[in-house]
Amino acid sequence: MEIIHISAECYPVAKAGGLGDVVGALPKYQCKAGHDAKVVMPLYKTKFLTTAAWEVDYKADAYLGNQYFAYTVLKEKNNTLGFPLYLIEIPGLTNREKIYGYADDTERFLAFQIALLDWMSQWQHIPDIIHCHDHHTGLIPFMMQYCYRYAKLSSIRSIFTIHNAQYQGWMGWNKLHYLPHFDEWKTGLLEWQHSINPLACAIKCAWKVTTVSNTYMGELRYQSNGLESLFEYEKGKCLGILNGIDNEVWNPLTDTYLENHFDVKTVGKGKKKNKELICNQFNLDITKPLFVFIGRLVGEKAADVLPDAIKTALYYMPNQANYLILGTGEAHVEWQFEQMMAAYPGQYNAVIGYKEALSHLLYAGADFLLMPSRVEPCGLNQMYAMRYGTVPMVRNTGGLADTVVDMGDSNGFGIKFNHASINDITYSIGRAIEVFHNSDQLNSMRKTMMQIDHSWEQTVSDYTSVYQSF
Ligand code: ADP
Repeated sequence: MEIIHISAECYPVAKAGGLGDVVGALPKYQCKAGHDAKVVMPLYKTKFLTTAAWEVDYKADAYLGNQYFAYTVLKEKNNTLGFPLYLIEIPGLTNREKIYGYADDTERFLAFQIALLDWMSQWQHIPDIIHCHDHHTGLIPFMMQYCYRYAKLSSIRSIFTIHNAQYQGWMGWNKLHYLPHFDEWKTGLLEWQHSINPLACAIKCAWKVTTVSNTYMGELRYQSNGLESLFEYEKGKCLGILNGIDNEVWNPLTDTYLENHFDVKTVGKGKKKNKELICNQFNLDITKPLFVFIGRLVGEKAADVLPDAIKTALYYMPNQANYLILGTGEAHVEWQFEQMMAAYPGQYNAVIGYKEALSHLLYAGADFLLMPSRVEPCGLNQMYAMRYGTVPMVRNTGGLADTVVDMGDSNGFGIKFNHASINDITYSIGRAIEVFHNSDQLNSMRKTMMQIDHSWEQTVSDYTSVYQSF
């Protein structure tokens, strides 16, 4: 089957979160399973651009409303990612250092979607499946079906995967003229609560809609930033498919970011060596349990509650544990984490920034990973943590609910709590400190979680069934 993945992120080309990890891995494993899966994404000025070799595949121009723009499609020459990768460069719009966060993101991603469809309309053949990811690609199913110039693509089956429904790409009706001429009777498909809503439009127009865990799919029907009734109405074509993790990248025995490798048999010693490196670097105490948080410092991840929760734990359980934060996000949360560094030397530290290598070391060396997320569609961190023998401490929501079993339950290996509150988090830290001192229980939990299969093979076969179901 020929599958075209369209996404704003793809690891290692450009990644801001889990979307990048998934789009970097799913096509690779689909190719291994015998499919012809490709990825098309915007060209940003990232490191990967300078390290890989490129050839020009196509060059043309298109229109964003009445604004003319030129675009170039570059193909990565050596198939280094395990699947064909295409970047669309639109000078002045896509080729910037960051993926998101610009005032003209609406125009950037609209121009990208238009350039992509213009290019595909020139192909000699049509692919079997167009697989769009998140709202940056949300208008593609609509444009394929209802824009006159893309009539050739209208019969291609489209699938839309929601990695995060909080962000919907809202835009005002004053931007409607950007879209190529379409059947005006269909304007209502673009609309949700008085604005153009690409995520809602994709849910209405894609042939199938998936999200990244079963529990999250159910949660969207009563909590999805305004789209609850739409999810209820469209539930017949929606389903949850749990993400896998890329075992080639995330393997403690071969991880290229680590100096000290280990597997399930050597986990105790291996983790200790990695923990030593962390503790030396961040002035922490190797004899105490190490709690880490890795992720975006935003409300969704409940990062705003963590400073007070950690302070409370430090107050009631002084000198019993180490805490280390790696993240970047909202300025007031970053500020709070930074302020705590001077107050708790030897017990707490923080790195404000995005550091891929350090994140691998933390998964490998930490004892516990904190994930109090208010919303977690799938969550990859907890699966990486499990693979590296780090106990996940998670709020019982979305993909966290589907992947972690509390240590109080049969074959349990993690710590689960119900609220993103100071009480629930500090109580869980207390449970964790207790289990840290019970080395038999800790070792058996590590061994159980490291052997759980989160590989992509199952996920690939679930997606294949969806592709074949319509
Ligand atoms: P989301 O996509 O909502 O941010 P996920 O759990 O699905 O959350 O994926 C997060 C990914 O981003 C993981 O690979 C995690 O290790 C990585 N990550 C997040 N923040 C950082 C950071 N500051 N430094 C390094 N890696 C990070």
